[in-house]
Amino acid sequence: MSQKRYQIKTACPQCGCSFATHLSAEELKKRYGDVPNVEMECGECMVHYTTSMEKACPEWDKECKMKENT
Ligand SMILES: [Zn+2]
Repeated sequence: MSQKRYQIKTACPQCGCSFATHLSAEELKKRYGDVPNVEMECGECMVHYTTSMEKACPEWDKECKMKENT
């Protein structure tokens, strides 16, 4: 059974370097939970910042909301 993977994409507000990763639904839940905001750490300047799941991964955000409604 193949697991669907979601792309998380953010950009650091300080240095502007972008970060992208692919996680399965299970990994996403484990790492971020069902929260609207995700905490990220920039690999370049190590700054911690928060971004909304809606921006980082619209696809997951959508499915999250769909699951809540059913
Ligand atoms: Zn940075």
